[in-house]
Amino acid sequence: MSSGDTPISTRLSDMAAVREAFPILQQQMHGQPLIFLDSAASSQRPHHVIHALADYMSRYHANVHRGVYWLSEEATYAYEQAREKVAHFIGARRPEEIIFTRNTTEAINLVAYAWGDAHVQAGDRILLTLMEHHSNIVAWQLLAERRGAVLDYVTLDADGRLDLDSLDQLLTERTRIVAFTHQSNVLGTINPVATIAARAHAVGALVVVDGAQSVPHMPVNVAELGADFLAFSGHKMCGPTGVGVLWGRYDILSTMHPFLGGGSMISYVDEQRSTYADVPQRFEAGTPAIGEAIALGAAVDFLNGIGMDAIYHHEQELVQHALQQLATVPNLTLYGPRAAEQRGAALAFTLGNIHPHDIAAVLDQQGIAVRAGHHCTQPLHRLLDVPATVRASMYLYNTADELDRLVAGLAHVQRVLG
Ligand code: PLP
Repeated sequence: MSSGDTPISTRLSDMAAVREAFPILQQQMHGQPLIFLDSAASSQRPHHVIHALADYMSRYHANVHRGVYWLSEEATYAYEQAREKVAHFIGARRPEEIIFTRNTTEAINLVAYAWGDAHVQAGDRILLTLMEHHSNIVAWQLLAERRGAVLDYVTLDADGRLDLDSLDQLLTERTRIVAFTHQSNVLGTINPVATIAARAHAVGALVVVDGAQSVPHMPVNVAELGADFLAFSGHKMCGPTGVGVLWGRYDILSTMHPFLGGGSMISYVDEQRSTYADVPQRFEAGTPAIGEAIALGAAVDFLNGIGMDAIYHHEQELVQHALQQLATVPNLTLYGPRAAEQRGAALAFTLGNIHPHDIAAVLDQQGIAVRAGHHCTQPLHRLLDVPATVRASMYLYNTADELDRLVAGLAHVQRVLG
């Protein structure tokens, strides 16, 4: 470990040490300490992850699965180690169940093409929910267009939770796929994956879970989820951009046709036809994001060093604090469950008639980074009947003090714009 490295095991009770691990958090923004509240879009990275990527690039960069020389073997070893770390992190039965993709979006598209094109027929139904991110909508719309299928949507109750009665009404023997998010990136709602998966399996549907907002924030074990596929992104869990994960049940993956064709994913190629490599190589065509996958493995080490339980509990405390404090802000409408234990650390709100982009711009002047817009959930925003919201989203490095500064920042917004 070089001197730039952070010890992997950092306790959240020592918040100063945790924050020191993240170089970007040490800077000032517009003359104020940076308060980063946009981790749902992309989290920050600790030294440990930055170092892992730089170390690969500067010391053992080579292509994987190809060379017999030391550098390539070293790169291959580290890349496959990362796969094992990710497998262990989510309780996968075997590393071959981990496919490295570019991100959650690509992971979902992989299932839509490689499983969907083979199994979805005209008139079949694909069941989604009204709280999905566009990446868990559009991939299925494209599949529905290709195959002549129909999309259905589970509705939400007034608190932003899935209406499970509507799920039951929409689930039929024509439902081939049920795809839904584990945790909403806007409402924060945590969905009962195992319950939904059991009901979906009872009608013979495939269960695809979007874990982009859950895997970074809580312990996730695929054996307990009961799903068939889980998709998530490295860049939301302290890892780099450019690498994501599709976990899939081995018995399903091993029967699936490839998604992309090219080098590395074949067994034998002749002029007219090819045979394909085993899983996971069958789904990793071309040169993968080698350093990024290795650095994702380092992110997993970092998160394990802190402990996913500890991260979840820290965020629960932050959510409770935020709910209390935001309730004191006049004219603030918060979306999503009121009970902290039903939600994760993404808090979307509006403030009277002030445009969310203006709110975000005034907060930025105070060093506070939040996101404004529809957060890639236009159907949800139509349901909420607002074109846009402000979203403050937290991670392991945020503090209650920062939330107090957000609340003070909102008071300033109201003075300036209200
Ligand atoms: N699903 C959810 C719930 C998300 O929040 C996001 C990103 O914000 C995505 C999917 C897409 O992730 P990516 O852009 O990394 O593919």
